[in-house]
Amino acid sequence: MKNWDSCMFPLFTMHTTGHNPRGTKTHRVRQRFMHKLKYFVDKYEKGTMCVGCGRCVRQCPVNIDIRKVCDKMNSYMPVE
Ligand code: SF4
Repeated sequence: MKNWDSCMFPLFTMHTTGHNPRGTKTHRVRQRFMHKLKYFVDKYEKGTMCVGCGRCVRQCPVNIDIRKVCDKMNSYMPVE
């Protein structure tokens, strides 16, 4: 049986125990961008998991723009 799935869906990370480490939209959106733009880069040192096609920018129903997310991530200054 095949199902459409996405890391943006609430049940994507649901464990059989009922625990869900990414139970909120915030957790899921954060993971999407951190995985694409930070974790993958840190782990494989082969650039981001984005080729800049713009599809997600055009299709996003709530106008999340990966370019603006990049700007925010790049301008982030950790609080010391
Ligand atoms: S711009 Fe294209 S490659 Fe980059 S995250 Fe969006 S859909 Fe994926």
